[in-house]
Amino acid sequence: MALEMRDRCERCGAAALAPDGPARICSYECSFCVPCADAMSDVCPNCGGELVARPRRVAG
Ligand SMILES: [Zn+2]
Ligand SMILES: [Zn+2]
Repeated sequence: MALEMRDRCERCGAAALAPDGPARICSYECSFCVPCADAMSDVCPNCGGELVARPRRVAG
């Protein structure tokens, strides 16, 4: 089984998290869209971690 690629917001389920698009993740890689992260004051509801801007994947 390959690791699951999280490309959906875990809060609203929006498939808005393009691989190089804007998103917020926490230390445990919970993923959220930007509007949800803003609504949650950048605090992960799953583990209480801080949500930060996901770094863009550097093209090889
Ligand atoms: Zn969302
Ligand atoms: Zn989390």
